[in-house]
Amino acid sequence: MHIGLSFTANNGAQCLLHGACVSILEAKLLCAVLSAQSHIIGDLSIMSTTHHTKTLIVGSGPAGCTAAIYAARASLEPIMVRGLQPGGQLTITTDVENYPGFAETIQGPWLMEQMEAQATHVGTTIIADTITDADLSVRPFKLVGDSGDIYTCDALIIATGASARWLGLPSEEAFMGMGVSACATCDGFFYRGKEVAVIGGGNTAVEEALYLTNHASKVTLIHRRDSLRSEKILQTRILNNPKVEVIWDTVLEEVLGNAGGPALPLGGAVSPPGVTGLRLKNVKSGEESTINVDGVFIAIGHSPNTEIFKGQLDMDGSGYILTKPGTPMTSIPGVFASGDVQDHTYQQAVTAAGTGCMAALDAERYIAELEADTVATQ
Ligand code: FAD
Ligand code: NAP
Repeated sequence: MHIGLSFTANNGAQCLLHGACVSILEAKLLCAVLSAQSHIIGDLSIMSTTHHTKTLIVGSGPAGCTAAIYAARASLEPIMVRGLQPGGQLTITTDVENYPGFAETIQGPWLMEQMEAQATHVGTTIIADTITDADLSVRPFKLVGDSGDIYTCDALIIATGASARWLGLPSEEAFMGMGVSACATCDGFFYRGKEVAVIGGGNTAVEEALYLTNHASKVTLIHRRDSLRSEKILQTRILNNPKVEVIWDTVLEEVLGNAGGPALPLGGAVSPPGVTGLRLKNVKSGEESTINVDGVFIAIGHSPNTEIFKGQLDMDGSGYILTKPGTPMTSIPGVFASGDVQDHTYQQAVTAAGTGCMAALDAERYIAELEADTVATQ
């Protein structure tokens, strides 16, 4: 069940744990552990809390954190709900070399820790919860968290991102960030002079493969059918590129690689874990084969995280939130969308951060107008 845990500490302060999804027994055990560890005393009670804020931000990736920084500095006292992936997609990658401001390579998880710390530093309240329901037909807008808590807000910034779709192979997960990637623009640079493969046959896969030819010595595009879904112009480019080989009617069965470890029997250099090849299967003949590659890019599409807003906001056929061109404004005044949730073209940390900034600035203007209207009618 979903509960909020409430404790009263020695100094009388109340401590709330959000996002708990536990049984009563587990809750009591947790209470006992917490009481023992942190000298928290008091009764466990099951409750839900209502949080009202001028600006609620849903999502804690680059778009959400940037919106939070701007909203907090505009005295909008924002609440940012983190979701199941605190810090967003960059937390599942390693080296980030294209976020401006850092001469040396930085780590994705570190960058997101810094963004969140900056958002907190300027006054954002960050809550570990996941929004499961939203009612955008009422004012203030009303959202419900997985914890059971209710969030009401005058302006809403949706920054729930888009999740790269994965094949779901255990070996794919095992080598994620160590040879398996979903972002050629981000990771292609690391394969200079090496051989890589791309899985998929849509625009993204073909664009990723073309991009990778700038770095890799050979790119193998592996597609499950015998024709590409991508636009004709991209097909012409990819099929005429001497660095590209296309393997048709074929699916990826297993990512092959080494788990890492000492390279020499008596110690010495440690070999990093990494991908060495792919085991493939032809879907027509059933024949299996292996190819040698240093990296594989999964490009089978992205899914925007917009399920909870379906039927309330205008979206395109793939579920991306439609915004007024050049702005983060959605089809409902006071609801703004930023980052990958409204962008299937660029999908970069810096563009997500940029639109997060735009959403907060527009939220500030929207709230100022609301407040001016309220004063005028009084
Ligand atoms: P996301 O980062 O996707 O964050 C979405 C947030 O929304 C998450 O915090 C999630 O928990 C939250 N959320 C979702 N649903 C809910 C809900 N119901 N309730 C509450 N919260 C919710 N870009 C670069 O510029 N450089 C790179 O090097 C780079 N490397 C990448 C490597 C990989 C492997 C991947 C997958 C992407 C990479 N990208 C890179 C792309 C970049 O990560 C994204 O463009 C960027 O993270 C999008 O930011 P966002 O804030 O829109 O969404
Ligand atoms: P997409 O068009 O949905 O294509 C996904 C590809 O992955 C398809 O070829 C599909 O195969 C394949 N695929 C899906 N699931 C698979 C699986 N489990 N195993 C193996 N292969 C699988 O996705 P996208 O390419 O990311 O594009 C998404 C949207 O963004 C599209 O509307 C696209 O036009 C747009 N986009 C536009 C541009 C541009 O305008 N330059 C660039 C990128 C994306 P099948 O073909 O067999 O279904």
